[in-house]
Amino acid sequence: MNSIDKLTEQFKKFPGIGGRQAKRFVYFLLTQNENGVAELSKLISELKKDISQCSSCFRFFKFTNESANCDVCSDPNIDKKILMIVEKDIDFENIKKTGEYGGKFFILGGTIPILEREPTKRIRAKQLIEVVGENKELEEIILALSVNPEGENTLQYVKKILEPLAQKYDIKVTTLGRGLSTGTELEYSDSDTLQNALKNRG
Ligand SMILES: [Zn+2]
Repeated sequence: MNSIDKLTEQFKKFPGIGGRQAKRFVYFLLTQNENGVAELSKLISELKKDISQCSSCFRFFKFTNESANCDVCSDPNIDKKILMIVEKDIDFENIKKTGEYGGKFFILGGTIPILEREPTKRIRAKQLIEVVGENKELEEIILALSVNPEGENTLQYVKKILEPLAQKYDIKVTTLGRGLSTGTELEYSDSDTLQNALKNRG
């Protein structure tokens, strides 16, 4: 396999990128000058060193101090009574941008396809249970997942695994999405839509 094919294979692993697009990326890189390509490879190789994963919400953040928690989780003004569960980092960013939500977050890290035999391998199920179990102030958990079949399947599963804790500690489990139409992915929702969905949760 030559370098073009090898790099194409790597790009094909990216979410939403097919073989043809992957190859276009490679040829694009070939048309760039040395500096541009060097800068890109430097950024890629530094990414893992520079970015840490929060031990509380599991989002990726720029490592700045000794804390194992991100800036949002270490913010003293955060509302610890409420926890929002989202699928991925981009969803977190979109919700945060609305400025309407000041509680805690948990990044699930994926969704569960319908008929999946090992759902726990698709999401941070174990970590979620730990985080919920440790937070004694928690009063509400908001499930903010995309309104599509896979999002719905994930929602039902997460509800099921949270049920014992929710009952034990009297935590209300709500769903974001009454204001979202079917097929809505959080990633592509604008701030107004998200604000409404947040207000109309139930
Ligand atoms: Zn965090």
